[in-house]
Amino acid sequence: MENLVAIVGRPNVGKSTFFNRMLGMRQAIVDDVSGVTRDRQYGSTEWNGKRFHLVDTGGFIGDGEDVFAAAIRKQVRMAIEEAQVVVFMVDVETGITDLDAQVGRLLKEINKPVLLAVNKVDNNERQLMIHEFWAMGFDNLYPISSTSGSGTGDLLDALTDIIPGIPEEDNRLPHIAIVGRPNAGKSSFVNLLLDEERSIVTDIAGTTRDSVHAHYNKFGQEFILVDTAGLRRKRSVKEDLEFYSVLRAIRSLESADICVLMLDASKGIEAQDLNIFRLAIKNNKGIVIFVNKWDLVEKSTNTLKEYEDHIRERIAPFSDVPIVFISVLEKQRVLKAIDVAIEVHENRSKRISTSKLNTFLEETLAAYHPPAYRGRMISIKYMVQLPTAYPSFVFFCNHPKHVSESYKKYLENSLRARFDFTGVPLKLYFRDK
Ligand code: GDP
Ligand code: GDP
Repeated sequence: MENLVAIVGRPNVGKSTFFNRMLGMRQAIVDDVSGVTRDRQYGSTEWNGKRFHLVDTGGFIGDGEDVFAAAIRKQVRMAIEEAQVVVFMVDVETGITDLDAQVGRLLKEINKPVLLAVNKVDNNERQLMIHEFWAMGFDNLYPISSTSGSGTGDLLDALTDIIPGIPEEDNRLPHIAIVGRPNAGKSSFVNLLLDEERSIVTDIAGTTRDSVHAHYNKFGQEFILVDTAGLRRKRSVKEDLEFYSVLRAIRSLESADICVLMLDASKGIEAQDLNIFRLAIKNNKGIVIFVNKWDLVEKSTNTLKEYEDHIRERIAPFSDVPIVFISVLEKQRVLKAIDVAIEVHENRSKRISTSKLNTFLEETLAAYHPPAYRGRMISIKYMVQLPTAYPSFVFFCNHPKHVSESYKKYLENSLRARFDFTGVPLKLYFRDK
């Protein structure tokens, strides 16, 4: 994948420290207690005006050198397959270890640019220690300190010399959050999408972790699954689970564009689901409903239609939402469900030209004029779309306060009918001309 940079290296060399510095926030965890495993971390950042994706391949500590080495090899292979450039990180404090040498050999077999970053070069004294790493046989060597940032500029210059940079328009892949009550099948869904290799995860009691995003790129679709670590973290107490699922939804919605509300078909839509649904709308997220475990439902001719109608009633007034019936267990309609979520993202990213909007407005006003307010004529002169991440429109008119709620609803429904905003909450503003 173009513009994808993988950070590779054995545990504790400072990969996630570097990753966090690059992303300018604490997105990955940093922990040098052995026994901690990590998912791959994903983010995107910019240098020299070039935007690129960054993957921290994480670390894996098994019981003994063999497991350890095997896991690292796997991660390195994955990173290599996907990345355009590899940043191979080693640690000046420890010098070249056997594992470093192994990773180094693997990297030399591939036909991709590798930048050797010697980390923890925090001072001049350590600067003198970097030369041993030339023995690894790479063409270049970048001494850096991930904690202070020194040297990282040169490394990034070299990196941005190689990559083309992501064009402005598609800076951001769709960010999808899978939310819903415990046991709806969220983790099963995520685990089905991300094959085991992609997410080396072992549950460790008492380990807390920050949110981990996972990059999905298969079958012609590409997106980010938000907060996948949270999906795997299981709690034992029932009440905790309910509470936790809402907390998690709140947090993961923050960084998502699209919210997938996952229901358990055998349970239907419940109050907690509606809370999450309203939360997504309030935050102007795109929304899709997946009704999972459809395999458990006894079906007759109208079952699906009735089930769908029932959900639409419950989620009203905002019911222009796709509802997809799936079975993660039987792998039914899972890819279709993803397509639908991506369509919602496209609907949410839609930009409609001012001239199209005003043709629309003219016709919509002609079909049904705004009712007068206390003898005053309401006239809407023109409209524009605002440059927000979600669709929002301003209508310029003479008495903005007196446009009735029902007329606003009419305008919104007409917009939906004309331009297709399925799954996307719209914001309509009325302003003085
Ligand atoms: P990872 O396992 O490769 O992702 O490594 P981490 O980012 O978790 O870092 C492992 C340890 O090295 C942590 O204690 C970091 O604080 C420390 N570390 C990372 N970068 C530097 C650095 O540039 N200088 C020093 N002195 N320590 C660092
Ligand atoms: P989460 O709490 O939402 O992450 O739910 P899990 O993914 O842990 O799933 C809860 C249970 O439902 C597990 O026992 C899954 O095997 C089961 N499950 C998940 N998807 C399906 C499905 O499509 N059909 C059936 N019958 N069971 C499922």
